[in-house]
Amino acid sequence: MKRKTRENWYQCYLAKWSVYELLEKCDADLAEKCRLAGCLKCPAGEGRLHRSDYRRKPRGGPEEAKKVETWRDSFCCDVEGCRKRHTPPSVRFLGRKVYWGVVVVLMAAMQHGLKPARVEVLRERLGIDRRTLERWRTWWLATFVDSQFWKEVRARFLPVLSQKTLPWSLCEAFEIDRLDRLLKLLRFLRPLTTLWVPVPQDD
Ligand SMILES: [Zn+2]
Repeated sequence: MKRKTRENWYQCYLAKWSVYELLEKCDADLAEKCRLAGCLKCPAGEGRLHRSDYRRKPRGGPEEAKKVETWRDSFCCDVEGCRKRHTPPSVRFLGRKVYWGVVVVLMAAMQHGLKPARVEVLRERLGIDRRTLERWRTWWLATFVDSQFWKEVRARFLPVLSQKTLPWSLCEAFEIDRLDRLLKLLRFLRPLTTLWVPVPQDD
């Protein structure tokens, strides 16, 4: 993948409302799967899951995103004494991060290889604090690399992925120059989206 492609990520993905709408549909599918599976915490698995979504206001999306309400799919078991919350994996939200997951992935990736001045322009356009971007970098290079998830999946990549250029190296491995491949990457990362306590919100 060439630098040119990375230059286009903003226009092709981050600034396009249709991409976010598509991600919402994917999340609806993931949520339905979760609902149908029923409660995983009841001893006899008798609990049915009822909607208990919560409101999110993810940052960094296109203008249209600010005009609609955004909800994180979530369910609660209906059995008295259990009532456990089930929050399905998501392609839109990366754990407790307050920015759209796709923004966290692509902006962190663009730090590897795009000219710093260009990253600055995009950072400002998306309204991302400089320290937040720095934290994402640390998150990918330290927290993500140390995560159980990464330890389990990294061997799948041949040739071996460069951990020093994450998440760029992941984007490259998934060849995300096509939208369906970007989706595939976000689906791949979805186990990470429920590792944190589901309710709000740091960065
Ligand atoms: Zn239950």
